[in-house]
Amino acid sequence: MPSPSSRISGISPTGKDGWEVHFAAYKRKTAGEDIMMLSVGDHDFPTPPETVEACAKALREGYHHYTPLPGLPRLREAMALTSTESTGVQTTASEILAASGGQSALFAAAHGVLDPGDHAIVVAPYYATYPGTFRSAGARFTVLEASAEDGFEPRAEALEAAVRPNTRAVLINTPNNPTGAIYSRETLEGIAEVCRKHDLWLLSDEVYWTHCGSGRQHVSPRGLPGMKERTLVINSLSKSHGMTGWRIGWLTGPKDIIRALINLNLVSTYGLNDFVSQAAIAALENDYGVEEITGIYNARRAAFLAEMRGLNEVVVRGSEGGMYVMLDIRAVDPDCERFAWRFLDAEKVAVMPGASFGEAAAGHVRVSLCQPEDKLREAAARLRRFVATYPAETKA
Ligand code: PMP
Repeated sequence: MPSPSSRISGISPTGKDGWEVHFAAYKRKTAGEDIMMLSVGDHDFPTPPETVEACAKALREGYHHYTPLPGLPRLREAMALTSTESTGVQTTASEILAASGGQSALFAAAHGVLDPGDHAIVVAPYYATYPGTFRSAGARFTVLEASAEDGFEPRAEALEAAVRPNTRAVLINTPNNPTGAIYSRETLEGIAEVCRKHDLWLLSDEVYWTHCGSGRQHVSPRGLPGMKERTLVINSLSKSHGMTGWRIGWLTGPKDIIRALINLNLVSTYGLNDFVSQAAIAALENDYGVEEITGIYNARRAAFLAEMRGLNEVVVRGSEGGMYVMLDIRAVDPDCERFAWRFLDAEKVAVMPGASFGEAAAGHVRVSLCQPEDKLREAAARLRRFVATYPAETKA
């Protein structure tokens, strides 16, 4: 066969990808072993029944057709209302591009602002698809490590130092996957200042904006002075409305770039599914499931973190929102991969080694909250037991 394009083969260079523990655990689980999977981030419950019913009704009523490229007008209106609420900036439908999931919105954002050879800066620890998304646009990028000691929030000075003459964009994610960090207003003001000074786009992934614990509120950098015209917000119904498998999200930004990006939908998706759009309209207009889902994750996070209290060798970092908890286990073993493998073998619990998400998260493990509270308590008890008996020769 003739070779594929280098742009496509370059998206995910082969080799170790950080998911080894997860896939080994998954294989053992499917072979019948009783393994607790705390390594993935998909809801363990179905989409709210009202949303499912709205979709079924739409199907029965004949919503089987093409939809307008940027999304149905009523869908864009509902998304704009949500963006007004989530970013604090009055938003109109013309500032919205409906997309098939947050990932697709991120893809549109990256392709909308980066030319081949342009440079971007991405804050780590980051969501695993970010590097590939930049590579797909032919862009180069610098990884800016936000340290555990800073609660995984980036420093403005470090961001400024990473800016090059051809830097065009910065990508951040708050509330964060994998760390659960919710960036403070001060952190975001620092980032915004660098973006304004160097005339950069800010790509702000806010798909977890409803997943905030009691401590910190979500702040969108789009709402900061001078940022509305240079911020593209990635959003999705996957996390907030329990709709991961429906593949629906959106991009919010200045109407001129949104207008230009409609052409990307023309040549990629040719618009969203009609019946999924109808369900999304119902879900957004009625907030189906949002409060319940937020409540579920907040209760799980609180329950798991309560179990970690008093465990001196394990330090909780970030973990203020999102669907994950990040545990600093360096006092037990500086090698988080070894720790994760041993935890799987000894206690049959799968967690992700932090190193899978970049250097900044090395020495940590990420625990997914996508399991019921009683299971999370059980996992915490196993972690306590495991840490207490950890092989002494590797203890720091
Ligand atoms: N951003 C982040 C930070 C995520 O964790 C995810 C999914 N896990 C996405 C974007 C993409 O979500 P989706 O495409 O399901 O909307």
